[in-house]
Amino acid sequence: MPRIEPPITPLAEPYWEGTRRRELLAQRCPSCDRFVWYPRDACPGCLGTDLAWSPLAGTGTIYTFNVMRKPGNPMMADEVPYVVALVDLDEGVRMTTNIVGADPAGLRCDQRVVVDWSAELADGRRLPVFRPVAG
Ligand SMILES: [Zn+2]
Repeated sequence: MPRIEPPITPLAEPYWEGTRRRELLAQRCPSCDRFVWYPRDACPGCLGTDLAWSPLAGTGTIYTFNVMRKPGNPMMADEVPYVVALVDLDEGVRMTTNIVGADPAGLRCDQRVVVDWSAELADGRRLPVFRPVAG
């Protein structure tokens, strides 16, 4: 099934290159030592512009989620029901993503999750998704 293929902006090129290696990256501000997500030109905390790409552990908790029983996009028609979630990564950033590998009825907020990767897009990139941590 074709997937939505996000455009690659020049700012986010390192992020997308990381997804080809299944490596989750975010910008980090050395001035105030915080991770920054989504990719941008300046730190939202101190307006510093020397942001550098840094790996994320890929672990976090579900902040909130929605079980999509009607596809949000016709390309997702074969995927319902699927889960759209906000995940709070341990580094302090909140990412919009999908939860996979779990019965949606069993999900709860604050549940621990770990990053996994979608199938390759046509150009070799992958999308980060998350699955519950066993136990
Ligand atoms: Zn900063």
